[in-house]
Amino acid sequence: MAKSKLEYIWLDGYKPTQSLRSKTKVVSDFSGKLEDCDDWSFDGSSTEQAEGGSSDCILKPVFICPDPAVENGYLVMTEVMNADGTPHVTNGRATIDDPDDDFWFGFEQEYFLMNPETGLPLGFPAGGYPAPQGPYYCGVGGQNVYGRDFKDEHLDLCIDAGLNIEGTNGEVAAGQWEWQIFAKGAASAGDQIWVGRFLMERLSEKYGLYIEYHPKPLGATDWNGSGMHANFSNTLIRTAGSKEKIEAVCEAFRSVVDEHIAVYGAYNDQRLTGKHETAAITDFSYGVSDRGASIRIPLYTKNKGWSGYLEDRRPASNADPYKVAARIIKTVKPVK
Ligand code: ADP
Ligand code: MN
Ligand code: MN
Ligand code: MN
Repeated sequence: MAKSKLEYIWLDGYKPTQSLRSKTKVVSDFSGKLEDCDDWSFDGSSTEQAEGGSSDCILKPVFICPDPAVENGYLVMTEVMNADGTPHVTNGRATIDDPDDDFWFGFEQEYFLMNPETGLPLGFPAGGYPAPQGPYYCGVGGQNVYGRDFKDEHLDLCIDAGLNIEGTNGEVAAGQWEWQIFAKGAASAGDQIWVGRFLMERLSEKYGLYIEYHPKPLGATDWNGSGMHANFSNTLIRTAGSKEKIEAVCEAFRSVVDEHIAVYGAYNDQRLTGKHETAAITDFSYGVSDRGASIRIPLYTKNKGWSGYLEDRRPASNADPYKVAARIIKTVKPVK
């Protein structure tokens, strides 16, 4: 009997930032299909998701792809349910209200590659700093690039897993990188970002590195922080055809700044200072091609006759894409 290894992946209950967990299920004669993945359970008292007295939580499979690093392996993204079948309070995916997948999302995941011995990003000498920012963004050459092997291997893993990864680039700080994933459907975009993060975490074990998702790991220095820009559209935005309609969507965000910031990642106040291509956390602004705004109207959208997509630049690198998407949908959906 052929054996397959299914890696069940979920989000734990840690605060203020949930982390990834996974365990391996061995099954016989597996079809490779999501509908043939059984629900599974885990000890929620070990992940801050249950009390010891009634500790079982349920893992409900929602997305599957081949595991490119494991023979006969599959990656199974799951959402956490209570024993009675209702969504667990830590389940951000269940809060997405987009049954017809009208919302498309492209997330730009930034991160730092860290040296566990120094606790500093790759390229940072112990006790000091490399040359100032400037040459690292999309940089080339040994004096500018730190961790390209890792970044390229992660890209190959994502492609081989069938994720809709669209690209990668070196970011503004030394040791800082980005990759982007796009999907038609908010839940799918979230699933793929989380599986992409899982592949990155697991690869970091092999390289003896770790991933830093903190939005401002170098504190109040002149070094950029990390975001997870959320590019989004629905039928209205894709077919708006006028400046007024696009601006009406942007305006809908103004009165709910706090609600958005609440799910845009912990410690984001340290990043959204108004410097380093960010808008201040207390402000709300939008503008064409404006990388200092809360929401950027891409030139693409203006040039396509005010139809296309928008970029919310505020979400931090440690945000949960499910919760970010759910909140954006809640704000944009009522706009007519
Ligand atoms: P930048 O770094 O200039 O902000 P990127 O190329 O890194 O831009 O990211 C742009 C993202 O916008 C990509 O993930 C892309 O898939 C996404 N995108 C493009 N068109 C749409 C659309 N219609 N709806 C949602 N996202 C979109
Ligand atoms: Mn980008
Ligand atoms: Mn970027
Ligand atoms: Mn961007």
